[in-house]
Amino acid sequence: MEAIDLRSDTVTQPSAPMRAAMAQAPVGDDQYGEDPSVNALQSRLAAMLGKEAALFVPSGTMANQIALKVLTSPGDEVVVGEESHIVWHEAGAASANAGVQFSVVGRGGTFRAEDLDRAFKPRDHIVFPATALVAIENTHNRGGGVVFPQADVGAICETARSLQVRTYLDGARLFNAAAAAGVSLAELAAPFDLVSVALSKGLGCPVGSVLAGGTEPIARARRFRRMFGGAMRQAGILAAAGLYALDNNLERLRDDHANAKLIADRLAPLRGLELDLATVQTNIVIFHLGAGAPDAQAFVQAAKEQGVLLSAFGPRTVRATTHLDVTAAQCMRAADTLTRLAKAW
Ligand SMILES: *Cc1c(COP(=O)(O)O)cnc(C)c1O
Repeated sequence: MEAIDLRSDTVTQPSAPMRAAMAQAPVGDDQYGEDPSVNALQSRLAAMLGKEAALFVPSGTMANQIALKVLTSPGDEVVVGEESHIVWHEAGAASANAGVQFSVVGRGGTFRAEDLDRAFKPRDHIVFPATALVAIENTHNRGGGVVFPQADVGAICETARSLQVRTYLDGARLFNAAAAAGVSLAELAAPFDLVSVALSKGLGCPVGSVLAGGTEPIARARRFRRMFGGAMRQAGILAAAGLYALDNNLERLRDDHANAKLIADRLAPLRGLELDLATVQTNIVIFHLGAGAPDAQAFVQAAKEQGVLLSAFGPRTVRATTHLDVTAAQCMRAADTLTRLAKAW
């Protein structure tokens, strides 16, 4: 039987109709601004995010790295929540590319305006690194796919403005946050100078993220995209997948959330397995293996042998992620398998 792949929401295969949309996409040289599919995707997402302009980039990591270049200078400090993607999952790019350092605040990926206030360091101080930027991740991946409370987002960005600190939203999974909170993308993105969204996660596209913001910062972002080698030519063939996904794959994100809940509800009561159901708000289930249970590597290997693929996220931390290529029935089967494993230790 084929494995049930819950390692990530990036493992999805482009569907037949998505591939057809890609094959038929009108294209042009995007470096001349002549790719109609890229232009359509950029204007559509700029409108959905309530921003003046948008830029198609090859990955979420590049979107984050470009945002750092646009919003900071070398030697600056960036305030972030615990275990942010920009700190943990980008191979040290922020220090290599933008020359910034991070100040980590809060708990579980979220934080409050007073945390920013406490961490803030003024630009004119003789020894401090200048706090130039606050970056929020919504949903927060390593926090368990939690939605960043929008009241805190508003207060943090207001404090940032009063301190002349810029604001960035790493919204790789902002579509999940919008679906879970029942709030529009534009409302979630409104307080920020720049925002990125990923097409290659819950939306099921093979490639791409989009960075959005004001006309001026996006013009600068276009130059950094070129500098990072991410400026492409007939990229409309990829942007067409994004347009297809916006038409067809947004509504169904709620199914992924229901499937994650279904798995989490089954796993939470198991002995030796710690799972905070309050963190299961979207398509990610993170749990910790307690005393008496095997470590994450061993558990992931045992699950794999039973046909369920998971990710080891730490020595005793495991992540399961739902997506458009796993059904509710498969998630139920995966939960059965993991339950059997947990009952055997
Ligand atoms: C996946 C992810 C990214 C980057 O995505 P890539 O396209 O894999 O580079 C950025 N931020 C968050 C929160 C993510 O989960």
